[in-house]
Amino acid sequence: MRLLCDHMLGTLAKWLRFMGYDTAYPGPLGDTDLLALAEREDRVLLTRDKELAGRSARVLRVHSDELEEQIREAAFALRLRLIDPLSRCSLCNTPLVAAKPEEVGGLVPEGVRTRHTSFWRCPSCAKVYWQGSHWDKMIERLNHFDLPKSV
Ligand SMILES: [Zn+2]
Repeated sequence: MRLLCDHMLGTLAKWLRFMGYDTAYPGPLGDTDLLALAEREDRVLLTRDKELAGRSARVLRVHSDELEEQIREAAFALRLRLIDPLSRCSLCNTPLVAAKPEEVGGLVPEGVRTRHTSFWRCPSCAKVYWQGSHWDKMIERLNHFDLPKSV
């Protein structure tokens, strides 16, 4: 399942990436270009635009303007679940690679680096991830949504 969020759904795109989904989030594009991109890359387009949603079966219309409800809508309509929370960069969608503490020196606060043994880094934008309190909070929020469970 590959996804594409239109320009109104940037925060949703980050969360879908965190859940483990390949989620494209291009800059502002016209409707025709968005549909063409979805077609070309075999992605489901998520949008709040009713008119756009009516133009293709490849589009899921998101109704809510609240993040939690948007995640819920997408998850239930597309049967999404938490598949792998550290597989993609939430900023740029690039697959993450594992990194050792000695490889992230200077890239994360020293206290974080000494408290954790596992890190992940984005080969594209260089952002470093670890299972800290922010990560725990995101997992907790997702669990709270009662998303579809693994098959
Ligand atoms: Zn990145």
